[in-house]
Formats: sequence, structure tokens, C-alpha cells
Amino acid sequence: MACRPCPWAISCPSLDQAVQQLLFDVDWRDGGEGPRLDVLIVDMPLGTGDVQLTLGQLVAVDGAVIVSTLQDVALTDVRRGISMFRKVSVPITGTILNQSYFVCPSCVTPHYLFGSLAAFRSLAASLDVPVLGELPLVKGVSVGGDNGVPYVLTSRKEQGEGDSAGGAVWRNVMQEIAGTIASTDNLQVTGKTDSSHATVLKCDK
Ligand SMILES: [Zn+2]
Repeated sequence: MACRPCPWAISCPSLDQAVQQLLFDVDWRDGGEGPRLDVLIVDMPLGTGDVQLTLGQLVAVDGAVIVSTLQDVALTDVRRGISMFRKVSVPITGTILNQSYFVCPSCVTPHYLFGSLAAFRSLAASLDVPVLGELPLVKGVSVGGDNGVPYVLTSRKEQGEGDSAGGAVWRNVMQEIAGTIASTDNLQVTGKTDSSHATVLKCDK
């Protein structure tokens, strides 16, 4: 979503407008017909900008999932983001730690490249926010990002070849996370596609 006149500004009327258009002017049905959209997941950079506030004000958000890494600056953003979502009454479903550790191809011991997970866990506990999962660092996630293919949609074979044991750990943790989010936010896990192992979430409200 490009906001050309002021791409980096926090306060940006066109960005606000873009969010409104995305929410209310897009026909989310498949090909303009068929069932309505079940679940809309909005992936946002962590922050306390207008987009988060606009979403909180314009729509009833079922839950915010805060994804972080271990770095101090990221954890500071987690604290600020959670406080802001609480101010606009958006429920916090939980938090996910990304790039928590690395599982190398030659052994199965997790390597904590960015330090112990204690800082993240204690922050989550102090904010009374559940930890939904701790994902390992896997190369395929960034490769998939560059190719425009979410890692969860790449095949087990590709994941196994590229990431060995780490790929399987990542997949299992993500599956658990999806299940927890579904039950917390009253979504129904309706099934898995054959071509991938993506979990399909369906709103049961
Ligand atoms: Zn190792």
C-alpha cells in the first residue's frame, strides 16, 4: 500500500483513507460473488501510528496478535503497541516471538543466536499477555517473502530441503499458534488444503 506523498510520515491522511478503502470499498468476495469474507487478517508493522488507531476505531477487531523479535527496540515496541491497543479497546490475543532460535541442519539443539528468551517471556508475563508461540529462524521465510510465497504455503518437501529440522519445528509451532488464535477469537478451523498445510480459519459468528 503506497502512500506516495509522505511514505514515512506517521500522520498521513492518505494512509488513513487507504485503510478505509481497504476495509469498506473492496469487494472481498471471490470474483464479486460467493460467500462473504470470513476472516480479514491485516499485517501491520509494529507501531503506534494512525493505521492501528484507525482500525481500532472503524471496525470491531477480534484480536491483535503482536509479533516481535528479541531485540530491545522490538520489545519496547511490543510494550507500546499493547498499551495503545488496550487504549482503543482492541483485545490482545497474544504475542509471538519470531526468530527465537536457530535449528542447524547438523544437530537438533536450538541455538539462541539473539540471546535467551527470558526477556520476551517476562515482558509478556508482566503485561499479562499470553505467548502463543516461539518460532525458530528459518531461511525459507525470507526466501518466501522475496518470492511472494508465504512460507506456510510452501510444501513440506521444500521446507525440509531448505530448512531441515527447523522447517518442521516452525510448521508445528505455527499450527499450534493458529489453533490457539482460532479458539481464543472464536474462529473455526475448517480444514487444510491438499496442496499445502495452510490452516483455513472460518469465522463462526
Ligand atoms: Zn547445531
